[in-house]
Amino acid sequence: MVELKTPAEIARISRGGTIIADLFDELEPRIIPGISTAALDVFAEEFIRSHKGAVPVFKGLYGFPAAVCTSINEEIVHGIPSADRILNEGDIISVDVGVELNGWCSDSARTFPVGRVSAEVERLLSVTGEALERAVEAAGALGHVGDIGHAVERVVEGTGFSIVRDLVGHGVGRKVHEEPQVPNFGKSGTGPLLRAGMVLAIEPMISMGSHEIRTLADRWTLATADGSVSAHFEHTVALTGEGARVLTHDAPGVEVQ
Ligand code: MG
Ligand code: MG
Repeated sequence: MVELKTPAEIARISRGGTIIADLFDELEPRIIPGISTAALDVFAEEFIRSHKGAVPVFKGLYGFPAAVCTSINEEIVHGIPSADRILNEGDIISVDVGVELNGWCSDSARTFPVGRVSAEVERLLSVTGEALERAVEAAGALGHVGDIGHAVERVVEGTGFSIVRDLVGHGVGRKVHEEPQVPNFGKSGTGPLLRAGMVLAIEPMISMGSHEIRTLADRWTLATADGSVSAHFEHTVALTGEGARVLTHDAPGVEVQ
């Protein structure tokens, strides 16, 4: 069942969302060649917990062992931070963060370049970021869930990249994963109706090669089947009836029309 949130509940979710946005701003200058993903995880956990009542919601969720997911290059999502994973110049790393603050969750991911990346990887980051923007706009129009995936498809079409189809966005609220599922492909006018009061995590994942995925030996990390590089951007957004309000922005209250 899809639960609608009141404006007061949305305001609470956005307070956690702002912590994630601030965390990304703090992480950005720290994502440099030579740093380990474990160091990023420690920083993220301390930053989140420095806000009264905030906890990293992924820690322990389904048994996940860390505060954030760190997925490098061909890894798409659910990478486990490790002291042995050192970032190199030219890598990209997706950091996926969930915060629970006073019983309400928010969820956001950003893919960062490590030093200088190739022009093709830069293009992947820009296409994936634009896919998220267009998908958020589509959600704000209060049509159907299929409109969101359709907007992602329209951005990716003709780029030579492919949409990871097996992983989806989701509702967010008391739990970090709620109904409905939000696929990154779809037909306009299909799927569940979008209504004011819905809070959704919209999260396109785009691969430079195959859309197919595989699970790595750690049984957590999902990577592209053909080893091609992939990017992932995610925002938690509230559907207000006057567009979609991004709750995991630096500036709370930014409206995307
Ligand atoms: Mg996430
Ligand atoms: Mg998510």
